Amino acid sequence: MTPNSGTVEGLERRSSAVFDGRSGTPLADLAVALLERQKKTWPGLAVGYEALGEARLREIRGDGWGVKIQFNPRRIVSSGARVDPETIRRRPCFLCPDHLPPEQQAILYRDDYLVLCNPMPIFPGHLTIAHRRHLPQSLPENMITFLRFAVDFGPRMTLFYNGPRAGASAPDHLHFQAAPAGLMPVEKEILDPRKRTGARRRDGVEICRTAGLARGILVIEGKEEGNVAAVVVEVIGMLGRSATSDDEPLLNILCTRTGEGWRLILFPRLKLRPAAYFLEGEEGLLISPGAVDMGGMIITSREKEFHALTPDLVREIFREVAFDDAAVDALLDAI
Ligand SMILES: [Zn+2]
Repeated sequence: MTPNSGTVEGLERRSSAVFDGRSGTPLADLAVALLERQKKTWPGLAVGYEALGEARLREIRGDGWGVKIQFNPRRIVSSGARVDPETIRRRPCFLCPDHLPPEQQAILYRDDYLVLCNPMPIFPGHLTIAHRRHLPQSLPENMITFLRFAVDFGPRMTLFYNGPRAGASAPDHLHFQAAPAGLMPVEKEILDPRKRTGARRRDGVEICRTAGLARGILVIEGKEEGNVAAVVVEVIGMLGRSATSDDEPLLNILCTRTGEGWRLILFPRLKLRPAAYFLEGEEGLLISPGAVDMGGMIITSREKEFHALTPDLVREIFREVAFDDAAVDALLDAI
């Protein structure tokens, strides 16, 4: 066992609750209890929630779509982070159990994952779910687990995933995140049937795209776990064939339990950061979109961007970093 894989003693010290799926307290309730406890026992988390409490919010309405802008200075650590392979290789991995802050506690999930409070929350109840071992971030191999998390958390929570090159702050350590369902504008927008088009079915799974939401989005819904997972994995494979590298194609994905099934919202990406991210001075825009931003909650860590964003600028950023409707349409045609 490497030092980074989480020794048994280390995991026991961290685990303030265990979820084994058999019976007992629902996972979402365990997470609420963990958060309440950790706000008292972990000063760093209390500071993160204070910052969230003071975060400012404004809404931007485009033509038939809307986003919220959150000004949250504490998020500079994430939006300004270097995620190039060399930097990642050199830094101690902050999701490995042995490197977590000493006060941080976890729910040990089905022996393999640690459910953790995110110390820089974007949402109240924002969780990070890290594998106990230092395994690479990859969705296709862990698709069934991702769907199971949505079942175990239930419809109150939305799971989300950032691909290793599309917003994951630890691209080398397998992790998901979770937040209360319905807080990202896109979750409501896609419920409007006028915003959906091109529906087709495969093995009981419905796949469609959105229309007029300023970025191309696939919506995948179904009730049979294996078939839903197979469709998502197929889509990722198709995106990979058109990519220039063997690494996982750039994507973000949201997943919610709906009755007996799942709803997944998939954002195929062209790049992580818009060109303006790398400009110095007035023209620079420190916007580094991940799943939450693609979901319509754009996080700004500096006041400048909080005021500067307009509908045109948001549309321009989406156009630069994500597929458009036509590109998602072509993807649908190939399924
Ligand atoms: Zn790690």
